[in-house]
Order: sequence, then C-alpha cells, then structure tokens
Amino acid sequence: MIITDDHMHLYNHLKLKALEQFKNAGGTHVFLVSLLSKHYNVKPTKGEDFKKIFDAHIGLVNKANKIVRAFAVLGVHPAEITIIGGRLGFKRAAEIMKEALELAGKYVEEGKAVAIKSGRPHYKVPKDVWDLSNEVMMHAFEVAKDVGCAVQLHTESYTLEGIKEIAEMADKVGLKREKVVKHFSPPKVKEFEEVGIFPSVICLNDYALEAAKQGDRFMLETDYIDDKSRPGAVLGPKTVPRKVKELLKHGFDEDFIYKICVENVERVYGVEMVE
Ligand SMILES: [Zn+2]
Repeated sequence: MIITDDHMHLYNHLKLKALEQFKNAGGTHVFLVSLLSKHYNVKPTKGEDFKKIFDAHIGLVNKANKIVRAFAVLGVHPAEITIIGGRLGFKRAAEIMKEALELAGKYVEEGKAVAIKSGRPHYKVPKDVWDLSNEVMMHAFEVAKDVGCAVQLHTESYTLEGIKEIAEMADKVGLKREKVVKHFSPPKVKEFEEVGIFPSVICLNDYALEAAKQGDRFMLETDYIDDKSRPGAVLGPKTVPRKVKELLKHGFDEDFIYKICVENVERVYGVEMVE
C-alpha cells in the first residue's frame, strides 16, 4: 500500500533516520520541502543565492530516494520577506524572492523538483509587507503556470475568504486552482472542494478522520520539521502512516487510501506514483 506524506522537512535532528522511521511505520512516498535560507547559513542578496539552498536540498532528496520515494519541493518561504527585508528592505526582498522562485521553476523544468513553495506570512505584518508578499505569491503562480507545476502554499490560518481570495489570484494568471495546495490545512475538505484549492491536511488530533468524513479530495502531511531544538515539531515522521491505519480501522478501505495517497497526488503534482 502506498502511503504519502505531502509535506515534510529534514534538517538537523534525525535527518534521513526520520525517513527510516516513516518507512518502518509503513510510509512509502514523501514530499520533502526546502527550509528557510537561515537553515542553510545563506544570506541571500540576489535570487541566484538560492542556488546553494536548492542544490543542497536536491542532494538530500537524492539520498532520501534510497530509502523511500522522495520528491523535491523548492520553497521560497514567505517569512523570507521579514528575514531578507530586515537586511535589504522589503522591496528588494520581494525582488529576490521572485528571482528565487524563477530559479526554482528552472529546477522543475529540469526534472530535479516537482513543485515550488510560496505563500504569505502567517503572522501579522504591515500593509506594505502584506502587499509585497501577495505580489511574490502571484509571481509563484506565474512561474507554476509557465512550467506546469503545483505550488504549495504556506499562509495565514485558514479562512474560507482567505482561500477564495487566493483562488482568484491563481485565476488571474491562469493557474488551475487545483494546482494550488494549501499546506497545513484544517479538515475543511468540502469548503476546499467548493473553492478548488487543494488541501494538504495536517495530521493533528482527529483531522485525518474529520477530513475523510467529508470526502476524498485531500492529501495528508505532518510538516515534520526535524529541528534539534524542537524535536518532533510539528508532528513526528510516523504520523501519516499511523493516521492512515486509523482510517482503515474506521472502515475507510484501501481504495479510499489509494485515492488520497496516490490519485490525488498524481493529479496535483503530475508525478507517477510507483510502489
Ligand atoms: Zn513546512
């Protein structure tokens, strides 16, 4: 049985051992997302400086592929606006982030990565920073449309209005709404289905079960961070396989799991999920 974690990081704690744990628990496929520039000791002054980050991440994903089937997602985290902006000003930060997203798009074109990651801050920022962040996210949509890939989004906490607004932004550049994946989603499967944005449901509490009760148009993730200073944050690497087994116990069959772990993933990311 294929079991997919749609959003996980490897950093400085368990590293590849986290994937051994995932595999031993029954996990087979994972989307590994690159972290913030500070996690790589990079202080970007131009978009090209993300090359070091992306290459390091691709190297890690190649190693990960010896354990499970791993796909690379190249991120320009929305919090970069604050980190880079603090040094170079917010306008310049936004420019650098757009350049980095274009670079990420090139890696997708070359087949090294399958998706890009963008979004807007989950914390309160001044209006000018918010507007610039929206511009950056729009640019990510343009890049995704041009290269034909999906965009994972890290955004403010879920509201129906929020995802509707984001869906309209995707429409503006002609990116299909289902190519926009809201990472860290609550189990609002029906609302997501109405709007068209694709939810990657975070496996907190009973979220997986709640999601399954609403339909089968979702994916599952842990957002495992792999940070020594916060071991186990957000959720441990075994969580998705465990939650999938819980779903089976609750009467959701293997066809249902196939839908969320294989069909949805293939449709959104355009990847082939072989066992
Ligand atoms: Zn994450």
